[in-house]
Amino acid sequence: MSQPISTSGAQSAAGADVTHRVRVGILGCGNVGGSLAALLQRDADHLVERTSLRFEVTRVAVRNLSAERIVELPSGVLTRDSEELVTADDVDVVVEAMGGIEPARHLVAAALDAGKPVVTANKELIANVGEELFAAAAASGVDLTFEAAVAGGVPLIGVLRNSLVGERITRVMGIVNGTTNYILTRMTEDGADYADVLGEAQRLGYAEADPTADVEGFDAGAKAAILAMTAFGAKVVAGDVYAEGISGIGKGDIAAAARMGHVIKLLAVAERQNGEIAVRVHPAMVPIDHPLASVRDAFNAVFLEGEAVEDLMLYGRGAGGFPTASAMLGDLITVSQNLRRGVCDGFGPLAAARLRPIDETHTAYHLQFDVTDKPGVLAAVAGVFGQHGVSIRSVEQTTRDGATDGIAHLEFITHRAREADVASTLREVRNLDAVRHIGNAIRVIGQ
Ligand code: NAP
Repeated sequence: MSQPISTSGAQSAAGADVTHRVRVGILGCGNVGGSLAALLQRDADHLVERTSLRFEVTRVAVRNLSAERIVELPSGVLTRDSEELVTADDVDVVVEAMGGIEPARHLVAAALDAGKPVVTANKELIANVGEELFAAAAASGVDLTFEAAVAGGVPLIGVLRNSLVGERITRVMGIVNGTTNYILTRMTEDGADYADVLGEAQRLGYAEADPTADVEGFDAGAKAAILAMTAFGAKVVAGDVYAEGISGIGKGDIAAAARMGHVIKLLAVAERQNGEIAVRVHPAMVPIDHPLASVRDAFNAVFLEGEAVEDLMLYGRGAGGFPTASAMLGDLITVSQNLRRGVCDGFGPLAAARLRPIDETHTAYHLQFDVTDKPGVLAAVAGVFGQHGVSIRSVEQTTRDGATDGIAHLEFITHRAREADVASTLREVRNLDAVRHIGNAIRVIGQ
């Protein structure tokens, strides 16, 4: 166990004006860890005024001691020995900003076992092995906090865990991946192609050289699991989340959404209905007057619905060193105050919940088909919808101006329907002789 946070400074008769020194060990000194160390240095006096805590970064673990850093650290602070850092006597609180599951998992566990609270920004860690680490934190009576793991600088987890802890949340719906939101914004506003915008995003540093985790929805899926876990107190891991990305979205889909007064966004959705939890990530058409439609470029936002609070949205920067460090700083102050008082907020144990499979969820759909332009085809296609219990909200048939190829374009918007029924409708429509091409099936929000 580390020594309790030490106190110093003049103490007034009323016991005020005491400064508590908190020694911080940071795992990682990249974008996030380096920015947090810089923030703690720059704002040290301000933090004493606001919190009575004087933070001192005593150790920072990295892989490469000679790499250039965004923060200047006193000599001897940088170390390659992360194992020693997490149990060192001169570290009161551990910040994990290295990323990935191992070695972060065993280092965080070792810090918690040694009685040190941990603040992490690591979505992979929390979404995959969060439960075992929360149990380790509870066993040691210290905090494990993860504000920065979802939507970077947006203080969302604290709102869910504190302000809204008594609220019956029914749905959390968010834009939690800045890369895909940037790509979809450029496609919508500039009429650009997916591949061109992805290349531009990679040049600007908004997208990784391997963009798979972002564009296929896996990054948002890990965040959706954390949102579900936090909003509903339920056991949900990344592998439970159905994920569909944006790599198949084309100009035609963006244009179809615009014709309906919608924009396409990649949404992370966690809902609770009749004691079941449904968690998924997919592109969706969002009405232009919905608050999420106005979230542009690399910004993030999470729209919450609760029985008493009704609708609420949190918006901000989902990534970037300083916005993310700001979220971690809030956690660092909370866990340090708790450590000083000998308490912890505790998270869990998480309740086992029935997770509703994607096939059993209900959503409205936008569906489009190219068909042979002859009498009876529209009725035949619509008939298949009816046989599978998928009710049609609107349908439009168009032919391209001057077209002589005998092809008509059909666009349907359904009422909310069971995913499995929509899938079986599409399978059967595909077998109709008159159907030449089936476009993307895109879910529609707000129907
Ligand atoms: P980063 O720039 O790549 O920095 C990672 C740091 O961890 C580097 O300093 C690296 O050391 C160190 N590190 C990695 N493996 C290590 C090991 N085995 N032993 C010791 N040090 C090790 O990453 P980042 O962007 O700061 O992200 C850190 C975490 O924050 C991730 O979990 C990420 O998902 C999360 N996050 C990031 C953002 C963001 O905007 N970047 C936003 C929200 C959450 P070297 O420098 O020596 O290689």
